[in-house]
Amino acid sequence: MDLDAQGKKLLSLLVAKIKTAVPGRPETYIGYKECHDLLGLPQIREKWGESLKPQGLSSLADWTESNNKPGITGIIINLSTFEPGKGYFNLFGKDDGDYAWWAEQIKNSKEHDWSPYLIEEFDLTPSDFEAPDRNDIVTSRIIRDTALSLKVKAINSYECQLCGTSLGMPAGKKYAEVHHIKPLGKPHNGPDTENNMICLCPNHHAELDYGAIKLAKEKITINEGHEISDEFLRYHNEFIYKP
Ligand SMILES: [Zn+2]
Repeated sequence: MDLDAQGKKLLSLLVAKIKTAVPGRPETYIGYKECHDLLGLPQIREKWGESLKPQGLSSLADWTESNNKPGITGIIINLSTFEPGKGYFNLFGKDDGDYAWWAEQIKNSKEHDWSPYLIEEFDLTPSDFEAPDRNDIVTSRIIRDTALSLKVKAINSYECQLCGTSLGMPAGKKYAEVHHIKPLGKPHNGPDTENNMICLCPNHHAELDYGAIKLAKEKITINEGHEISDEFLRYHNEFIYKP
């Protein structure tokens, strides 16, 4: 069987996306909604995964399976489970959750020559970061809640370093978020270090993620044991902040 036009279009997108994907690390993969956005597809069913099936996903998945190609559609994941749709494993005769096999499909897909089947060129590097999907940010933030970010929250008593807000949670717990001032990952490549972190309330976190506000050191509450580097503040004001 030949790959239909919608399947080729989706394949072209996935081949561009897979360049920055790290096998076995789903947070570097792509969501169903993001595929719609990047391909300009309408949402035709309530669930994004169901909506993508008749618009290239099913034909591409069937084509890879019947032509012994690597399972590149495994790079498309549900952002709430960080897994591909159930049909993915079953189509290739694998059990749900065969993660080793899945990671190998992504690795083989990165190395495979797909060029005879591509119809469109996607350059994902700039657009990826100019208009990030807020859901993507929130989900990857949970994964990154490291010991270091817990320490930064504790030093700052779970109070926003910009406005002093502290959110009270059930059972006397408090809630705050840690933001990387120079963002992690491409293209910014900021470090995962304390001096690149700031403890925030969710409102200020969203404003910084979107570059809605500037950072002025004199307006930041600095608590003993947690220094913030001037270099990263300058980076935010110069490259993230959009006046
Ligand atoms: Zn705040």
